[in-house]
Amino acid sequence: MISVEEALERILTEITSLNTIQVPLNEALGMVLAQDVIAQEDIPPFANSSMDGFALLSKDSKPQGDKTPRLRVTGGVAAGYLADHALEPGTAMRITTGAPVPPGADAVIQVELTRSDGRDSDWVEILQAVHPGNNIRLAGEDMRRGQTVLTRGTEIRAWEIGILATLGWAIVPVVRRARVAIVGTGDEVIDIDQPLKAGKIRDSNSYLLEGAIRTAGAEAYRLGIAHDTVESLHEKFDEARQYDLIITSGGVSVGDFDLVKDIMAEKGHVNFWRINMRPGKPVAFGHIGGIPLLGLPGNPVSSAVTFELFGHPLIRKLQGYNRLHKPQIEVIVANGILNQAMRRHYVRAHVVWQNDHFVAHTTGNQGSHVMSSLLNANALVIVPEESGEVHPGDKVKAIMLNWPEE
Ligand code: AMP
Ligand code: MG
Repeated sequence: MISVEEALERILTEITSLNTIQVPLNEALGMVLAQDVIAQEDIPPFANSSMDGFALLSKDSKPQGDKTPRLRVTGGVAAGYLADHALEPGTAMRITTGAPVPPGADAVIQVELTRSDGRDSDWVEILQAVHPGNNIRLAGEDMRRGQTVLTRGTEIRAWEIGILATLGWAIVPVVRRARVAIVGTGDEVIDIDQPLKAGKIRDSNSYLLEGAIRTAGAEAYRLGIAHDTVESLHEKFDEARQYDLIITSGGVSVGDFDLVKDIMAEKGHVNFWRINMRPGKPVAFGHIGGIPLLGLPGNPVSSAVTFELFGHPLIRKLQGYNRLHKPQIEVIVANGILNQAMRRHYVRAHVVWQNDHFVAHTTGNQGSHVMSSLLNANALVIVPEESGEVHPGDKVKAIMLNWPEE
């Protein structure tokens, strides 16, 4: 049995990012940049005014004795256009927000700090002295030509889309989405639209995993349930060859019918098949014919939890993300937890902010078959291997499942 950390490391060293595709910017939302983005121009591209007002020379704004300076207005410059003449000392030019600062001017004074004879006034009085650079946004002040603005592996959110647009990236290189095959196993498992017969249970895992895979940003394909026979499993795995990753549930423990790892050993390689944790000791990882295979336990809670711990970062690495892991925070546990197994225990909990602390309320019976313990859970409280008991009020770490990866 290996530790959770070792399992994760073994998985991630085997996984490399998928190939790059080019997509129009508006389709890049939620995808991952496949290459660094270097600014090809200064942003802003030219010095411009941050206010509606008058462009002038700052030294002309200083009062002479107690006389308010009065300047001749020689014209104007609007956003989108260039001034048709340079600014002369002792004069001013009307300017709007975003308009290029006319040559010769070193400051802009906002209209509220001036007095004039209306829109077409040929004079303006300056009611307050301004410093050089006042209300001027310099070229390259935001981003410099040649600067690496975004690095590969960055997730493209709405804000990154805005930055890519400003830099002129109409087409964006992104890592394509992973296509993940889901294979359920077990003679007792039937599809959810079939009538329940004696001894049978519905396939909850394939559907839960489909949702979890899509939440991780990949495309999920349910291939149905393989029977507990070598032939049936071979058939499913043959079908799964065209995918980037195979995720199975069930069939990886030590029971007679646990054939997934035998087939992996025969047709590929088993990297590991047991982890020192609860729920979910029987997790297998390796490949079949070069396609990575993550074999999750059959118990629904085990398969849900182990997907979060191993499947989620695996898929993110496939898809090129540089942030793979959900954040861990320190929480105070509201209820006691027993851990007699000497295995790392991941306890489903609802974490809330209470009296200036994050407080974890565990979600009832933590049996690996008890699906209702997933309800309302937004965190996994980590009980270390060596700690037999956690008391109410103790501080422990928790993985925040709904927080963005860091
Ligand atoms: P296994 O890992 O195959 O020994 O399965 C462990 C437990 O998980 C058994 O009680 C199975 O009936 C149950 N199980 C296996 N596959 C599924 C599934 N797709 N949906 C719900 N429960 C399952
Ligand atoms: Mg089974």
